[in-house]
Amino acid sequence: MKVTHLIILFIIFQYSCFSQDLYKEVSEKKLFENIKYLSKKELGGRLSGSIGYEKALQFAEKQFKSYGLKSERQNFLLEFNDILKPAVFQYENEQEKMDFKIGKDYILRCFSGSGNLNTDIVFCGYGISNHELGYDDYFGIDVKGKVVIVFKQNPEWEINDTTKWTAIYPRDKALIAFSHGAIGIIFVSKPNDANPQSIIGSSMENHSIDQVNIPQIHATIETINKIFESNNFDIKALQSDIDKNKTPKSFALKGKVKININTNYVKQQPTSNLYAIIEGSDSLLKNEYLILGAHLDHVGVQAEDVYFPGANDNASGSATILELARVFSLHKIKPKRSIIFVLFAAEENGMLGSKYFAENCPVPVKNVVSMFNFDCIAHGDSILVRCGELFPELWNIAKENNKYINMMVDKTTNSSVADAEAFFKEGIPTLYFVTTNTYTHLHLQTDTPETINKQLHRKITQLAYLTTLNVANTNKTFWH
Ligand SMILES: [Zn+2]
Repeated sequence: MKVTHLIILFIIFQYSCFSQDLYKEVSEKKLFENIKYLSKKELGGRLSGSIGYEKALQFAEKQFKSYGLKSERQNFLLEFNDILKPAVFQYENEQEKMDFKIGKDYILRCFSGSGNLNTDIVFCGYGISNHELGYDDYFGIDVKGKVVIVFKQNPEWEINDTTKWTAIYPRDKALIAFSHGAIGIIFVSKPNDANPQSIIGSSMENHSIDQVNIPQIHATIETINKIFESNNFDIKALQSDIDKNKTPKSFALKGKVKININTNYVKQQPTSNLYAIIEGSDSLLKNEYLILGAHLDHVGVQAEDVYFPGANDNASGSATILELARVFSLHKIKPKRSIIFVLFAAEENGMLGSKYFAENCPVPVKNVVSMFNFDCIAHGDSILVRCGELFPELWNIAKENNKYINMMVDKTTNSSVADAEAFFKEGIPTLYFVTTNTYTHLHLQTDTPETINKQLHRKITQLAYLTTLNVANTNKTFWH
């Protein structure tokens, strides 16, 4: 054997043995810079289909390019609603006048319609009208041309003590109110819940009801309490009463609400997933793929000023995808299998982007050996790798690599959810990386870069790097 051959062999040996040391290259600073940019106000909460989301896409494209990777967009259509300025919500009766502030006292439901109203208000309990079950919050109540106040969630109790309520979403409740002639709807979280839901941003489509073109507000319990108190009612007592008697208790309130909401609804707005591929180095195994994915979108901005930064959800996962692409691009000799880095659109609308990607996969689905999803991975305490009960061999690879970072908890889960679900349904083994106690600021205006656990974010990205590297290089084919 010639000396040059020996040198080449030595170099190959070195890279194949020590490429995993590149996990140390994962940069806390770069991860945090990515989060900071994606969470900026000018990106307006990255609602899929918005200008802010387009800016996030362009940022990611630039990053991929700077690592020598060519990225590709995958376009599809979705429902889109722009909530414009001004947003007015006031209440007035003979004694007092209240002026509520968007972002503090209320927010708008994602598919709110427009309206400039000055009218009466009616409390309509759970806002349900189900004749089959014999339960109707609208029975004998005139809501025509008025605004209704309803609980956002559904009753816990069973109707007739036997029948569970089927899912009734806020969008259904808006349609029910509208079909009874209401011209606006105000949701309030059930005040007697142990942890009543805050006024969260949302863009969930749920299912295909077209926009109900009336203002749809989600007010805080305090806001609604102020209105009820000036009517000598207590919202907590009202809920208790309905729940105890399992009977509607709807009535008109005195005073009027003034509401002025302006939205711009588009039934089919274009948006895009974005992906880049690093080709494998093995002549045969390069035809097999690992997909690393995270959703880039979040829940947007309202009336220009109120925006949802989505630093943890999911600028964190997106930052990790970009950082993994950077570190894998540093490899002189690439891993044996090919790796696809993908940023999904429209997770917040109901995981539309990952579904579209899995169903329109740019490579043959049968050649995809695993999909790793990253969602909400930079707030909380430690690392949880989900889906381990479904795919113990994959999970064990992650667990084995925990020796380098020491932050992964020993428990896992038995279901594939969020953006991993669509791939699981295509028969692809999945892991879902998340952190424990991650949802403190979920869909709130407080999900900001200041709340990020930078060290945790770096470690989970390192764990993802090591696990990906092992799966991309292994000679085992246990997943099919
Ligand atoms: Zn979310």
